[in-house]
Amino acid sequence: MAFALKSYPVIYRSKYTADGWKGAYIEKTHKTPEEEAALGETGRSRLENSRNYYDDMPLVNYTSQYGLGCFEGLKALPQKNGGLAIFRPGRNAVRFYMSMKGLYMPPFPEDEFVKACVETVKRNAGLGFSPRYNAAWEKDSFMTADSVYIRPFTIAEGGIGVNLSRAPWVMIITTPVSAYFSADKSDAVVTERIRATPRGTGWIKAASNYVISALAKHEAAEAGYMECIFLDPVERKYIEEGSSCNIFFYLKSGELVTPELGDTILPGITRASLLELAEDRKVKTSERKISIEEVFSEAKECFVSGTAAGATPIESLTWQGKKAVFNGGKVGELTAELRDTLKGIQYGTLPDTKNWMTGV
Ligand SMILES: *Cc1c(COP(=O)(O)O)cnc(C)c1O
Repeated sequence: MAFALKSYPVIYRSKYTADGWKGAYIEKTHKTPEEEAALGETGRSRLENSRNYYDDMPLVNYTSQYGLGCFEGLKALPQKNGGLAIFRPGRNAVRFYMSMKGLYMPPFPEDEFVKACVETVKRNAGLGFSPRYNAAWEKDSFMTADSVYIRPFTIAEGGIGVNLSRAPWVMIITTPVSAYFSADKSDAVVTERIRATPRGTGWIKAASNYVISALAKHEAAEAGYMECIFLDPVERKYIEEGSSCNIFFYLKSGELVTPELGDTILPGITRASLLELAEDRKVKTSERKISIEEVFSEAKECFVSGTAAGATPIESLTWQGKKAVFNGGKVGELTAELRDTLKGIQYGTLPDTKNWMTGV
């Protein structure tokens, strides 16, 4: 049986102490990547999975008991000219800082966040653990391309009462990933569930938010859909976002709309980047409320965005038994252009004119 998590050997851990943050890199058990491959599927995945266990972690803590924690997700991508580069880590650093503050934790310094992400990827690559650039990826817009997923997250100190975390740890692990969505486009369904509520934690990448997302995504999958889309919690008519991705609609009028940010929507870095790329193309962009009715009558293209999704075309959206099919079920022109431009910048086949990439 293959285990679920392939953890690279070097992880980062910082503990919040009376003297501030104390960080260290920890090298878990490993062989060379070639020796690990030679162990066969079961032996290799057992070793990879063993690196996910961590002995002095408190078993009962505010994260394991009450979901008090937050995380980030970002990628280091193999570059056409060699090496790896991380997409906009400074933005994740700021969001992580805001998330921790939002959870009343001592926030983790932004510069240390970027340094630790770079260094963790670099140390693993130094041991041979990193994907290599493959020119064949260019043929299908990097849909099958590999990268390193970086997952920084918090763990609260031990304690059993419902409480805040005053002395959290920040951990960073990395794992190799390929395409997140298996198809090049997907069918989505509007879920009846409510992901986030006003004055809640929807704007924070908070661990506790993802329980509802996982339930709704499971229900969507059972019904044959790839993704679930949430409506606003109050009026139940405006589109919010997907389970872990933001959403865009390209209207017949030529306007590219994504729901405006607020309490209940996660401020995606891919979202912000795609808005910028669309504006560069002189596309009229709007961050505003968009109702499900407007989508059904006016949208000609639809895609979801996120670190894992990139810009993934949505083929159709089903709501109350009715199905809106976008662009006749084919990938739309603007969607493809934005997706390919983003991938090109990320993998280094297009010039990084915006300085979005941080070399490792
Ligand atoms: C992480 C996430 C996103 C996408 O954010 P990116 O910074 O683009 O990866 C969107 N929505 C939710 C709910 C998320 O958790």
